[in-house]
Amino acid sequence: MEFDTKLVQIGQEPHPGTGDIVPPIHLASTFEQRAQQDLRYFYGRGENPTREGLERCLASLEDASYALAFSSGQAAGTTALSLLSPGQKLISSDDVYGGTFLLFDLLGRYGITVEYVDLTDLDALDAALTDDTGLVWIETPTNPLLKVADVTAISERAHALGVPVLVDNTFASPVVQRPLALGADISLYSTTKFISGHSDVIGGALVHNSEDFHTRFFRYRTAAGNVPGALDCYLLHRGLKTMSLRVRRQNESAEHLVRLLRESPKIGALHYPGLAAHPQHEIAARQMDGFGSIITFEYLGDVAELLEKVERFAVAVSLGGVRSLIECPALMTHRPIPAETRRRLGIGDNLIRLAVGIEDVRDLAADLERAL
Ligand SMILES: *Cc1c(COP(=O)(O)O)cnc(C)c1O
Repeated sequence: MEFDTKLVQIGQEPHPGTGDIVPPIHLASTFEQRAQQDLRYFYGRGENPTREGLERCLASLEDASYALAFSSGQAAGTTALSLLSPGQKLISSDDVYGGTFLLFDLLGRYGITVEYVDLTDLDALDAALTDDTGLVWIETPTNPLLKVADVTAISERAHALGVPVLVDNTFASPVVQRPLALGADISLYSTTKFISGHSDVIGGALVHNSEDFHTRFFRYRTAAGNVPGALDCYLLHRGLKTMSLRVRRQNESAEHLVRLLRESPKIGALHYPGLAAHPQHEIAARQMDGFGSIITFEYLGDVAELLEKVERFAVAVSLGGVRSLIECPALMTHRPIPAETRRRLGIGDNLIRLAVGIEDVRDLAADLERAL
């Protein structure tokens, strides 16, 4: 079955008996055991049919054997980190989501160290990979600088030492990039972003092919209780149906806006993997199907004034929804990161991030031109 058909049909089979064309939302927290033909539902923290429909669809998008949904992207990340043992080291992209930095900060007390590496530099990765490495965590494209890491090359190097590789694929979405096909072991999603697509759910997911990981993640989730509710699963599955349409439109609009921003005298460095001048443009062209809808740039004017003037862009964190957003990482998403680290990473106080939505791009372009 093709990708776009899976989005609409997997886990959305008409309900036996009634024929509902969308699956019912199973709100029950517990299940009568004698009423089940094949006993498999016990308690909502463990099993829920609405959640399982979403999970089957998510797994199918990467031709994966397993997907588990979580109460947030952070909950999915926490669960993935349970693969690590005291004494082990986590190697991570140095330019990760702000919340991911906060999550990794918690690892020290469990005796796990974190080494941040610029994963666009394979020699730096080779130097960091040691026998005590328990996991390589890639974010690509990175947030907010949109650096692109070569998932296949990194996976080959990590696998040579038996180290599993996780890709936070939130920024790309499964429409644009499928990490398991590129050689990674686990895809992580904040389903809050492109999968929901409507900025009305917080959720996460882990997608992979390992029975061992599945057993461990399922047990961790059931123990920790970081499960999403049935209503949220329903909304996420509803969002998935239009994900391809939304993401393709968002990518096209982003490319249009990049062409416009390139011409503006008010823009310094412009970051977008679709630009031929982007340092990893060739890797992006090889491993991504489209270049995404996040754009970052250095604004040479007054940032506060720009954020005041835009009308079609909401000043808000997050991304991947139908509505276009604008934010300043140093003031908003990356504020928890020490200023010194931000500077070292190249996240200046005048860096602006756009998350392009599905509005008519002529309105978005006119708004930006006016505000700039
Ligand atoms: C939003 C985001 C997360 C965290 O997800 P939540 O759903 O907010 O918990 C993790 N990684 C990336 C790249 C994100 O954009």
